Amino acid sequence: MIKVKCEICFEHIADCDINEFKVPMNGLMFKSPASHRGIPPPFHFSMDWLEMRCPWCRKRPFLHQHKFMGTDGKYYGNVHECNYCPRNFTTASGLAIHTKTHERKDAEKERSA
Ligand SMILES: [Zn+2]
Ligand SMILES: [Zn+2]
Repeated sequence: MIKVKCEICFEHIADCDINEFKVPMNGLMFKSPASHRGIPPPFHFSMDWLEMRCPWCRKRPFLHQHKFMGTDGKYYGNVHECNYCPRNFTTASGLAIHTKTHERKDAEKERSA
């Protein structure tokens, strides 16, 4: 589990299993930061990125739609960004496979030119 922090007030607002992370984000992937103390999950499961609000500061806790910040200050989520298009990926290998499709398309373009 990764400890998720609000990017506005830096409180630990949720825990997230990175294997459950996907874009677009929804409330379901963010669990209670302290379920053993009876604290509920921070967002309703049906909420999307625009609707989520930090339980502490009431601002939108994530500045980016495809990644969130951990309490260690690092970004998690789809942090492997394609150099050719706006897509981004959870894993480096996911991005590598994707980048190959661009390179293949470029090669095809050169052949047909
Ligand atoms: Zn906050
Ligand atoms: Zn791309």
